[in-house]
Amino acid sequence: MDAREVRCGECQIVFTPADIRMPSETPCPGCGSQRYVRMPCEVCPAADLDDSLAGSGQQPLLDRAIQLDLALRKGFNMTLDDITMEEFGALSILWSERDNHDREQAQEREQKMKEQMHHASPV
Ligand SMILES: [Zn+2]
Repeated sequence: MDAREVRCGECQIVFTPADIRMPSETPCPGCGSQRYVRMPCEVCPAADLDDSLAGSGQQPLLDRAIQLDLALRKGFNMTLDDITMEEFGALSILWSERDNHDREQAQEREQKMKEQMHHASPV
């Protein structure tokens, strides 16, 4: 559930930097390189979002976005005049992360259905 690891850009080993917000502060334990690639979180797309927003000190903005999203889904009437561009930005990130997540899940379901139909069809 932790996207707190990075992969060394030189020797490709995966390690956990002292501070995930500044991975380049921790040189690779293998080769000492400061080039890194952030590892994606495999479990939950929101964790990445959390990290990126928390990293810039904008956690409350994400909280607001989640509340706005909830309000919208509950049928509250809101227009772009009612929220700040920052809030709208956070909301857009939230939605696109969720869309990606939904799409991946839909693809998985589709794949499973295809497999099942394949097995079920008479030879
Ligand atoms: Zn390395």
